[in-house]
Amino acid sequence: MPVSIENYNEHDLQIWNEELNDFIPDRIYDAHIHMLHLSHLPEDKRIWGQAELKDLKKWAERLYPGRDVSFLTLGTPFPEIDVAAHNKWFAEQIKEDPKSRWNRLVTPDCTTEEIEKDFETGQMIGLKPYRFFSTTGDVNQCRIHEFLTHEQMELANHHGMWVTMHLSQPHGCADEENLKDLAEYTQSRYPNIKWILAHCARSFTYWPIREAVDRLKEMPNIWYDLSAVTDIRPVITLFKNEDHHRILYGSDGLDATYFRGQYVALGRAWQALDTESQSLKFPHCDGRPILCIYEQLLAMKQAAEIAGFSKEQVEDIFWRNAVTAFEIE
Ligand SMILES: [Zn+2]
Repeated sequence: MPVSIENYNEHDLQIWNEELNDFIPDRIYDAHIHMLHLSHLPEDKRIWGQAELKDLKKWAERLYPGRDVSFLTLGTPFPEIDVAAHNKWFAEQIKEDPKSRWNRLVTPDCTTEEIEKDFETGQMIGLKPYRFFSTTGDVNQCRIHEFLTHEQMELANHHGMWVTMHLSQPHGCADEENLKDLAEYTQSRYPNIKWILAHCARSFTYWPIREAVDRLKEMPNIWYDLSAVTDIRPVITLFKNEDHHRILYGSDGLDATYFRGQYVALGRAWQALDTESQSLKFPHCDGRPILCIYEQLLAMKQAAEIAGFSKEQVEDIFWRNAVTAFEIE
């Protein structure tokens, strides 16, 4: 469960003061963060927190004090969400920050007319499909076109839309079908779609991105967001092998990373570890578990040091790459 903003504690603050304050630039564009109004979920399924734009802003002030923060907000994929109400609400919410944008929650049932109508509002720049909505019914092993239809990709291609893509399949970006599909879509079939491969191309462990990066880096129109990846190894691989201009900061707030714990890599498997749901003891430590988003930022900081990134390159990842790519004034 995410912690309440009031539960930000002295252990979080220590990490901010001693590690992150001098690493995080003045301007941040968080390119992977979700918004949600609980009324969009069935009454018995309201397990997540309310996340209006004002809540995102409040959290940003707490997490990165004094920084100027805007967002590429994403629809929240939840199996029984009221998609129409959710998107209608998004279009209104986002107007509160002219520098923020949104990627529309899209399921295979969304018509191209509905999508186009939202696109015309201006601040919607892309799509947020999700494997939960796969037409095959298999959420773990599905190909891109099974949860983002070809008609929808044709529309996205026509308008040059963004797609934030959380890849399915056990091997994520190292899956052979995913790689072949991405190569075909970026190189010939849909050359105008701009893909953001979420979570280091869904590489929460060292393995998938090591397998895939040499092929991904040859594909045009591929970007990555770093959201929720707390293991340093995939971040090092990405920083050392990709063009850093294709890498974007994302937090995956609020519920997926504003809890105490991290996404723990265990061999080639990984698991969210919420320390408050475990009975852990820390006999040899002064510190205590910190927010998962700070774990991610620590991994980014140390990977940037290992990759030899300059201050300017770090600023690119946190801000300049996104505002350039999204054409924000
Ligand atoms: Zn997310």
